[in-house]
Amino acid sequence: MILQLVVTIALSQAVRSRVDDQDPKSQCLWWPENSQIQLKFSADGNPLTPGETEFDGLAAALATWQTQLSACGNLTLTQGPRTPTRKVGFFEKQTNEDVAVFRLRRCSEIVPPGDTCGGADNCGNQFDCWQHQEAAIAITTTSYNPTTGRILDSDIEFNSPTFTFSTVDSPVCLSGALSTNCVATDLQNTTTHELGHLLGLAHSPSTSSTMSYRANPGELSKRVLDADTAQFVCDAYPKGRPSQTCFLPPVSPQLGKAAPGCGAAPGGLLIAIAALLLRKKAPLK
Ligand SMILES: [Zn+2]
Repeated sequence: MILQLVVTIALSQAVRSRVDDQDPKSQCLWWPENSQIQLKFSADGNPLTPGETEFDGLAAALATWQTQLSACGNLTLTQGPRTPTRKVGFFEKQTNEDVAVFRLRRCSEIVPPGDTCGGADNCGNQFDCWQHQEAAIAITTTSYNPTTGRILDSDIEFNSPTFTFSTVDSPVCLSGALSTNCVATDLQNTTTHELGHLLGLAHSPSTSSTMSYRANPGELSKRVLDADTAQFVCDAYPKGRPSQTCFLPPVSPQLGKAAPGCGAAPGGLLIAIAALLLRKKAPLK
């Protein structure tokens, strides 16, 4: 007689960002325990969104994560004062803020041909424009120590030239009639996902995850943290304990930069996110 034992193992679909997302042996990215992360919204907001509702959408996404962090986490993520800063990235010997910025123009349309903006992917900062791939809804740029994985700075940019960021709860916009009066690209939905990147999550292979890289027009489901994404907070940032790395980190003063991007074309086409991951830079000296 042959006994068959079927073992079902529930694997978490939450995937942590790493120093090299292509290398599972590289260190995970993490904020130290007791970090008080303050995300500052660019005071300019998004002029394309009615009133100041964009700030409400951003704040609602922050509150969702803070609720989970309060339940089982070891750090806080709250809204800081609005800031005039529109610069993303980490700059040594400067004051670095974690900011959320709506880019209103495409770099491809305003940066003079041949202008490299001093290199280092700096056209977005220099010309205050969207320098990333057009199909990405938003992008989170995280700067970290490439040896320890410790996050130093994380900023969110929104692709306003291409996407209609709405803040209403219903109805879903009709195809081809996107506006801010209906659910087009929901800002809270987008921001909740980006804040997962800010905290050290990569994209999940689960299409129902908050961290799925795809978002169709009209989507609201990512406003809520799925179970695996919520559990990431408890696992990586356990309340009353140190933040969990993937292995013991050595110490290095060098810095690196990661930029997980995410998006879907207005028609809902899949975007190869790997193209964005190639933006990752060699560590800065
Ligand atoms: Zn993403």
